[in-house]
Amino acid sequence: MLHNRDRIFTNLYGENPDSLKEAKARGDWDKTKEIIAKGRAWIVQEITKSELRGRGGAGFSTGVKWSFMPQESDKPSYLVVNADESEPGTCKDRDILRNEPHKLIEGCLIAGAAIGAHVGYIYVRGEYYREAERLQAAIDEAYAAKLLGKNAAKSGWDFDLYIHRGAGAYICGEESALLESLEGRKGMPRLKPPFPAQIGLYGCPTTVNNVETIAVVPTILRRGASWFTKIGTPHNTGTKIFCISGHVNKPCNVEEAMGIPLRELIDRYAGGVRGGWQNLKAVIPGGSSVALIPKNICDTVLMDFDSLKQVHSGLGTAGVIVMDKSTDIIKAIARLSKFYMDESCGQCSPCREGTGWIWRMMVRLSKGSAKESDIDLLEEVTHQIEGHTICALGDAAAWPVQGLIRHFRGEIENRIRLASKATIL
Ligand code: SF4
Repeated sequence: MLHNRDRIFTNLYGENPDSLKEAKARGDWDKTKEIIAKGRAWIVQEITKSELRGRGGAGFSTGVKWSFMPQESDKPSYLVVNADESEPGTCKDRDILRNEPHKLIEGCLIAGAAIGAHVGYIYVRGEYYREAERLQAAIDEAYAAKLLGKNAAKSGWDFDLYIHRGAGAYICGEESALLESLEGRKGMPRLKPPFPAQIGLYGCPTTVNNVETIAVVPTILRRGASWFTKIGTPHNTGTKIFCISGHVNKPCNVEEAMGIPLRELIDRYAGGVRGGWQNLKAVIPGGSSVALIPKNICDTVLMDFDSLKQVHSGLGTAGVIVMDKSTDIIKAIARLSKFYMDESCGQCSPCREGTGWIWRMMVRLSKGSAKESDIDLLEEVTHQIEGHTICALGDAAAWPVQGLIRHFRGEIENRIRLASKATIL
């Protein structure tokens, strides 16, 4: 269990004002100038040593990502913060934007200095209207206090920060689609390589990071990488905001140590599963893109990147969706298939055609109006989509279905048998 003294987001629930004065009282903007004075190399090295992994879903080392930015360039470099939080089951960045905006703004300044960027953009999901308002108010306060702009926070580093509001497309959360959208085009993912560190926003070196990733940076640098690595499990360090929703008694967001047992997370913070732990059917542990895990795995699994990968799922965004025994699990996954079909940008055939095909097949399976051999066919098609598309939306459409077949094949077969019996009678 995370000690209160190790909590980074002390105003996650907005119990206190989000003003600059209150944020400073909570420890934000403390020694920012001294941290930046230690230099770009030191900041990148310390973040690498902290083993901070990106909190947007991919879990890549933040320090290593920053080190890809060129030291010398005749073009400007940019920091882009991905606040397009659209993954079903996930609403953690929202609480940072509205209740802890100064952690994010200070993090942007430090990250900007670390990657050589004098300009940062925060791309906020269109539906987060109030959150964007709160964030803009905090940015205005920071400018008024000379924490942004020329010689930001008296650090000698010039840094300007802008908000850009999206228009509600899920695919704009994919970093290269986000850059396209920021440039004023349709949010369609780019082929990689080149990666944004070489050719990103406006063709210039760019680092794209998630809100939570950037917001924890100042605290790590103030308290030291070794403090951060003492929390969590090996190579899965620090704290994480988990979003717990679905069939629990008290859905909530909570910051806890990486690697907390899933059962403890649900029981301690979300009031347990509706009807008790024995009533649990399955959990989607990392936002709707990852494979579900059934109760027997939920009994013991730890909530970190590597432990969840071992059970063929993922930590993703840490959006924990709990489903009790009343859930029609086939229908639930079919609903997600519809989501991915709707949100596909249509650029590549396996995703454009495959997501619609998956959804139609999932609807048939949920009604039992398919053949048992269709289950293998469906699984084969998901493998043809996985890894064969421009961006990870294809994988995101495939994995939930693969998880369903892996763990609930018997339930799908039963439904087909029952439906065919009903037809014969
Ligand atoms: Fe677009 Fe889907 Fe291809 Fe991604 S995988 S680029 S969303 S068509």
